[in-house]
Amino acid sequence: MKYVSTRGSAPALDFAGVTLAGLASDGGLYVPEEWPQFSLDEIAAMRGLPYAELAARVMQPFVGDCLSPDRLGELTAKAYGRFAHAAVTPLTQLDERQWLLELFHGPTLAFKDVALQLLGLLFEEFLERDDGSLTIVGATSGDTGSAAIDAVAGLDRVEIFMLHPKGRVSDVQRRQMTTVRAPNVHNIAIDGSFDDAQAMVKRIFTDRDVTAKHRIGAVNSINWARLMAQVVYYFAASLQLGGPDRKQAFSVPTGNFGDVFAGHVAARMGLPVERLIVATNVNDILHRALSAGDYSTGSVTPTAAPSMDIQVSSNFERLLYDVGGRDGMAMAEQMRAFEASRAMQLTNAQREGAAALFTSMRADENDMARAMRWASEACAEIVDPHTAIGLHAARAADLPADVPVVTLVTAHPAKFPDAVERATGSRPALPGRVGDLFAREEAYTELPGTYEAVRDHILANAS
Ligand SMILES: *Cc1c(COP(=O)(O)O)cnc(C)c1O
Repeated sequence: MKYVSTRGSAPALDFAGVTLAGLASDGGLYVPEEWPQFSLDEIAAMRGLPYAELAARVMQPFVGDCLSPDRLGELTAKAYGRFAHAAVTPLTQLDERQWLLELFHGPTLAFKDVALQLLGLLFEEFLERDDGSLTIVGATSGDTGSAAIDAVAGLDRVEIFMLHPKGRVSDVQRRQMTTVRAPNVHNIAIDGSFDDAQAMVKRIFTDRDVTAKHRIGAVNSINWARLMAQVVYYFAASLQLGGPDRKQAFSVPTGNFGDVFAGHVAARMGLPVERLIVATNVNDILHRALSAGDYSTGSVTPTAAPSMDIQVSSNFERLLYDVGGRDGMAMAEQMRAFEASRAMQLTNAQREGAAALFTSMRADENDMARAMRWASEACAEIVDPHTAIGLHAARAADLPADVPVVTLVTAHPAKFPDAVERATGSRPALPGRVGDLFAREEAYTELPGTYEAVRDHILANAS
């Protein structure tokens, strides 16, 4: 399997190459040259497999010759063996058509663990092979940071610098990052928003002062291996609900467009999917883009769902490339214009291509709170603010009545206890597996929100 950049000029790489590279050298994102296909019979034959085996089956075509099927199976068994639920991503029923897909049973209580637990193992595997090392630089709106740090803490060949926007992540999220005391973990709080932090990270990848000395890796969902691992749970959920003989719709609380793009990949591989619902909060650039073709940035409004407080959604470029004719040169041109003016119009091909599978919905704080209350009062389920936005969209979506709607539960409610308590009156308790989070000492460096400050800190502290 070869991977090509959405901007057409970076060299094609194999799976090991894209796993270690993160962002492509032309500023684009890597995508498979073509989508692997499963027939309906092949999908039906996956029914009843344990999650780790299903994962190896779904991912093998993307991995190609880089890992043998046996080795891939060992890695998925190890990654998903750390989950607190034997089904790894269990479904919960809410009513006759609404379902929840629980993705928070990993070590840091958000769906990011599903991909990052595996990514940590893949880094180790590929770095050992060529005796290399990797400096990961990442930006987090909360959950990627803790999941990535948990996945790589203590690894010999990997060092991680994680930027978070100061004061804009929840206490649980921050502590899950800053209380991990391993010599290869460096936490940085910057003055600024998540988008500011993400823009700095992107710049590091193309800064020769840094890249001449360090091999820079990515744990954000610009890393293809993350999206690949997320494709698996769309198959898992569908197979439980009658797939591939029956279609489902999925409602996905969306920020950087990674999780929902994985649903697009599942559909491209042959999984029958009725619809993908992109649920946004009031930071609704994706809703405007999908409903009106208008991809223009505003300023970020902080909400109770901070992992969705995003204006620029990196992975949207992958969709625009894939449905817009897979023309790297045109994509590079379109993105250059966007980066200069912070606004662009989707082409007709992009709009029509996206409309075939995607719809979108925006939820404000009231919609979110109402969805949380409905889940609590009508179904005895406590959901977190991000999931509540997905659930609002799932219930409001215009779909055939016999189609099950699966909302992706992106975080455990105890990560956001204040917002949950405000809406439902009950304060969710942290599961025992996170331990004495509030007793442990924190360590992080505060930096001003300038690129130079961040770059100099990384150069001074990377080993
Ligand atoms: C990361 C995150 C999201 C957004 O996912 P994307 O892949 O960036 O669209 C939504 N909810 C939670 C809880 C998250 O951690």
